[in-house]
Amino acid sequence: MEKLSVLVVEDNIDNYELVRFLLERAGHGALWARSGREGIDMAKANHPDLIIMDLSLPEMDGWTATERIKSDPETGNIPIVALTAHTLPGDRKRALDVGCDGYLSKPINISLFEETVAEILARKQGRQESTGGSHL
Ligand code: MN
Repeated sequence: MEKLSVLVVEDNIDNYELVRFLLERAGHGALWARSGREGIDMAKANHPDLIIMDLSLPEMDGWTATERIKSDPETGNIPIVALTAHTLPGDRKRALDVGCDGYLSKPINISLFEETVAEILARKQGRQESTGGSHL
């Protein structure tokens, strides 16, 4: 499997460590942003293959950060999966409305998390093939 670079936007270190463990076990690399604002900056600087986005974040919440990342042509094609304890039906809809490509709830369901990452990688590879290998 191709190695992915994954930006994890998460203010809780225990959650980040678990996500990083799961990503590294699957052969991928993790980058850590601790606030919504840092998430936007790191998305621009590092062009990750995938962003895992907590929604309750300091400085700027994950919905706003997602909206800004998605509306910036430089970062708008990066898939974003919300990973959040917000499990009210409206929160899921709001995450998808601002552009999240997927939504996972905490506590983390490990097999669902792994399936989602693998599915996004497959989708990304499909897109690269159809555009002759170019991305960004
Ligand atoms: Mn949080």
